[in-house]
Amino acid sequence: MIRVEKLNKSFGDLHVLKDIDLTVNESDVVCLIGASGSGKSTVLRCLNFLEIKDEGKIIFDGEQIEPKTHDLNKIRQKVGMVFQHFNLFPHMTVLENVIEAPIMVKKMGKEEAIKEGKALLDKVGLSDKYDVYPSKLSGGQKQRVAIARALAMKPEIMLFDEPTSALDPELVGEVLETMKTLAKEGMTMIVVTHEMGFAKEVADYTIYMHEGKIVEVGPSVEFFENPKEERTKEFLSKVL
Ligand code: ADP
Ligand code: MG
Repeated sequence: MIRVEKLNKSFGDLHVLKDIDLTVNESDVVCLIGASGSGKSTVLRCLNFLEIKDEGKIIFDGEQIEPKTHDLNKIRQKVGMVFQHFNLFPHMTVLENVIEAPIMVKKMGKEEAIKEGKALLDKVGLSDKYDVYPSKLSGGQKQRVAIARALAMKPEIMLFDEPTSALDPELVGEVLETMKTLAKEGMTMIVVTHEMGFAKEVADYTIYMHEGKIVEVGPSVEFFENPKEERTKEFLSKVL
């Protein structure tokens, strides 16, 4: 579904991504781990074209995407993104947050958008919160709204950038459960996370990044139980 070849990105003199190669097949769940500043968010942002790569190829469904010639807004619609901070619209109810993009961007009829939006909110366990404003929700509930909102655009792939890092510890589980359900349903996902238990249990593959490079990739259980690279071992010994 997505292939990345020799992706490079710099911010001024800072070479942030160095020859990143990545393959994500349909229904794969891939976790991206690594220390702060290692380039994880930049990888996701390049895949969503929030940042434009300097060099390398990004191939979606067999088609190489070039920012100059492709309609990036079209591509962004295929890629759902969930951030650490939920970025909900504070002046809109939960349901209004979810139906906004399908109506405005996809020109979906309002009735259909409401029907689908409610179904998505039911799915993330918020069927009693349609008409509530975000300020009345817990962090875990807000993040589940953000997930429903991203799903409302019917993306082909979902990118999660530390979706639980801003949450109180007791709220992390409900968001991870929601993501696990999505994974089980076959959603293709790339998840940047510090939740090693989630990575080991849910991800098909885990990738460890250090200073802009991929150090190690492996099937998750093998990756965590038997890491091959010294750097990976050192990192895991600090976080596990
Ligand atoms: P991570 O998500 O792994 O913490 P990031 O991808 O956010 O890492 O950042 C990698 C490096 O790139 C960091 O040194 C960060 O300061 C730098 N960086 C990220 N975004 C920008 C930007 N827009 N301008 C300049 N430097 C940036
Ligand atoms: Mg980050």
